[in-house]
Order: sequence, then C-alpha cells, then structure tokens
Amino acid sequence: MRKLFNFSAGPAVLPEAVLTQAAAEMPDWHGTGMSVMEMSHRGKDYMGIQAQAEADLRELLDIPAEYKVLFLAGGATLQFAALPLNLLPEGGSADYIDTGVWSGKAYSEAQRFGTVRLAASSKADNYTHLPARETWQLDPKAAYVHICGNETIGGVEFQQTPDVGNVPLVADASSHILSRPLDVRRYGMIYGGAQKNIGPAGLSLVIIREDLLGRARKTMPSILDYGKQAENDSMINTPPTYSIYLAGLVFQWLKKLGGLAEMARRNEEKARLLYDTLDASSFFRNPVAKADRSWMNVPFTLADEALDAAFLKGAAERGLANLKGHRSVGGMRASIYNAMPLEGVQALVDYLKDFEKTRA
Ligand code: PMP
Repeated sequence: MRKLFNFSAGPAVLPEAVLTQAAAEMPDWHGTGMSVMEMSHRGKDYMGIQAQAEADLRELLDIPAEYKVLFLAGGATLQFAALPLNLLPEGGSADYIDTGVWSGKAYSEAQRFGTVRLAASSKADNYTHLPARETWQLDPKAAYVHICGNETIGGVEFQQTPDVGNVPLVADASSHILSRPLDVRRYGMIYGGAQKNIGPAGLSLVIIREDLLGRARKTMPSILDYGKQAENDSMINTPPTYSIYLAGLVFQWLKKLGGLAEMARRNEEKARLLYDTLDASSFFRNPVAKADRSWMNVPFTLADEALDAAFLKGAAERGLANLKGHRSVGGMRASIYNAMPLEGVQALVDYLKDFEKTRA
C-alpha cells in the first residue's frame, strides 16, 4: 500500500493495482521474453494489446460502430490544434464555448487556422458557472461547436451534454473521460489527454464519427489527419505503445470494478463528501455554482491566504500531496479522479475539519 494520497491535477494518481501489474509484467510480458516496450508495434503480441484496449474502451463507453477510436501521440493540446485542420474547411467557421482556461486555449489555437466564433462565455463571472444554454449564439452553419467538458483548473463541468442541433459537437474530455457514462452518440468528436483518468502523459484519445473524416485540409501533416490515422489503425508511425498498453490495463481495471456506472456512483459520492464539507465550513470556500461543479477537480480557498503555506505543509505531513492550486488562480485544488479512493477524500475532509478548528 502506498503511503500518500495524490491529489495532482495531472499527471495524476493511477490505480495501484494497475501499476503493480505493469511492474510485474514489465521485463517479460506473458512469457514472451520481452517488455511491451520492446515489442514491434506491428507484431502479433502488440497488435493484440492495442486491439484489446480499443475493444475494452468501446465496451466501457458504449462507442457505436460508426465511430473510430484513435490512440495518438501528443497531448490534448496537439488535438485541439489538429481539430480545425481536420474539421474546419477553408472559408468555414466554428463555434467555441468559453468556460475557462482549457476551452480558451482551444479557441485561441483554432484562431490560427480559420474563422472561429466565441458563441458564449462565462469569463465576465470569472468562470464560476457555465454560460446558460439559452445565451449561446450558435451559428447553424458552423463546422462544429467546441466545448471543454470539464475545466480542470476552474472546476466547472457539464453535467449534461448540451443540445447544439445538427452541428457536430466536439468535446475536450481530458479531465473527466471515463469518470461516468457519456452518450457518445451526441458528439461528433471527443478527445482527451491520458494523464488524468487513463494513463501516462503524452498519449491522447480521439473518438470521431466516421462521416467527419476526410474533410481534412490538403496542406497539413498526414500524421495529424484523423482520416489517415483511422485508415492506418493509429499506426501511420510508431504509436506510443507502452502508454497504450497501460491505458489498456486501466480499462480492464474499470471493467472489473463494474464499468462507468459504478465509477459515477463512486465519483459522485467522493465529490459530495468534499463539497458538503466545504459548504458547511465558514473557513473554506469553493466558488463554483452548485449545478456546474466538477466531480473531478475541486478548487477551494482558505479565508486567510496567509495560511496557505501552513495548510499545505500540514497536508503533506498527513500524506495529502499536491493540493496547491493552479498557478493562475492560487488557492487549493483537490483532483479526485477515478483512481482516488474514497478513503483519500475522507482523509482530506478530516484534515480540512481539523485545520479549521485549530486555525480559524
Ligand atoms: N485540456 C484539458 C481539460 C486539460 O486539463 C489539459 C491538461 N491539464 C489539456 C487540455 C492539455 O493537455 P496536454 O498537456 O496533454 O496537452
């Protein structure tokens, strides 16, 4: 058993059972005499690992057959740069919903490649809630609408998939993918970096509806072309094989625990415990509107900023690691992804109460 609870926003805690299994299998995978890291990506053993990972992911998220699943190198940042090159035709336009740092970055990046519109924003309220759906100024002719499903820094999450009519909805799901069921059919494309709920940083996932492939611009690198990647089983070049293997172990772990319905039950319970404690306190505060609060990333502040350092020091002494908030917002942030057990959140809640008693 590990001795601390890691609340990092990402790279983040992974299931201990997965790490233990990976450690045992690392030098010699299933008696092959080779580490997965050493296998040819075109060999039978590795191809089997990747195919199994894809099959398990499809089962977990109930991904329909008409969607392609890509395992790509490069983080979510590469995918939100590749997105307009794949889906925004020359002369076309795309809509972006601005709900915080990550949707903002995706919007800025897309501006480099074409016409993009800010269809809604909650910036004026410091991103403490999602912009109400009725306020979105959507263009029915847009090539796609982009949202960030869960803002890792602000702690704001879409609790429901927004209705955007017939325009394909594209979501950055980096920090909440696999935390609960998701109706993939409502999306044109879902993408995300792996380093929160899936595996090692540097791997990303793209789930894209087949009819959206083949729209890529001619002048773009083939490696970024989702259509070409789909035709080549994500193997235009050598894929991040070891990361995909680890992701596959995480998918198996999720299936064994009961899949995403069970993860949703656990994640809601953890989130409720933490938010209830923050709300009951007059010393700690979470700024996000209740209806839009993230189950994965919980930012909070202390009534007196001067106590931040003491809070973090005391937390570290209890084995509660990486609670410092993002440098852009300060304060604290507890990221409570799939692999964070309820006991970790309970330990944090106990600490919050003790700290308030002695310092408030
Ligand atoms: N989107 C979201 C929601 C994120 O949380 C992050 C990383 N924290 C990114 C995109 C960027 O991911 P990467 O560093 O893998 O490019």
